[in-house]
Amino acid sequence: MKPLIAGNWKMYKTPSEAEIFASELKKISKFEDRDVLVCPPFTAIGCVSRILAGTGIYVGAQNVYPAKEGAFTGEVSPSMLREAGAQFVICGHSERRHIFKESDDFISEKVKIVLEYKMSPILCIGETLDQNEKGETFSVVEKQLVTGLKNISVDDMKSVVIAYEPVWAIGTGKNATPQQAQAVHAFVREVLRKTYGDVASSVRILYGGSVKPENIDELMAEKDINGVLVGGASLKFESFSRIVGFNKK
Ligand code: PEP
Repeated sequence: MKPLIAGNWKMYKTPSEAEIFASELKKISKFEDRDVLVCPPFTAIGCVSRILAGTGIYVGAQNVYPAKEGAFTGEVSPSMLREAGAQFVICGHSERRHIFKESDDFISEKVKIVLEYKMSPILCIGETLDQNEKGETFSVVEKQLVTGLKNISVDDMKSVVIAYEPVWAIGTGKNATPQQAQAVHAFVREVLRKTYGDVASSVRILYGGSVKPENIDELMAEKDINGVLVGGASLKFESFSRIVGFNKK
């Protein structure tokens, strides 16, 4: 399967800064064997999509509200995102779970509506440091996965991307070792196999948490790591282009 290298810009870059950066990203070499995605803030999705049109680089959103439209002040609907150019939507990022108290059930509504609007959800899962130290990683990840994918059909699962992002590794400079990440990714695939059978083999499972030019090659060498979700290192051309151009081992 084609790996996916995704950048999450979080709440960085105004529309004019995003335009300059997107123009720079056009210089990223085209690779036949990997997909590239950037997820700017809502206000920059439209201009970044226009600039990147024809480059093969996908554009996505960092969040969505799970309703068609309505009186939801301050929220953004799936059709607004799609029309602006988004093809992927990050659902349940750990910052949404922890800062904005999003529940697994609420996140599952997002996954569902993103699929209804023919975009690909990137469902983020991952344990906190405390849960990791208590040995709860697998049970936490399983619950987030099973609830987040509630009522998703086998056919829809073909468009879903999973991102395993241990909370203790996000923005901290500490990353899971490739072996630690591989163990969780293999577990995630087994959990998916119970419900979705063979489709599980083709679901992209990304790793996220302090991915940088220095660790990308060894992470991508693991069998069940099918790409990465990159925060900090996706904000600069040098680091993101090096991550996109990872060397296959
Ligand atoms: C993220 O935003 O999903 C992330 C993994 O951030 P960072 O790469 O900065 O740890």
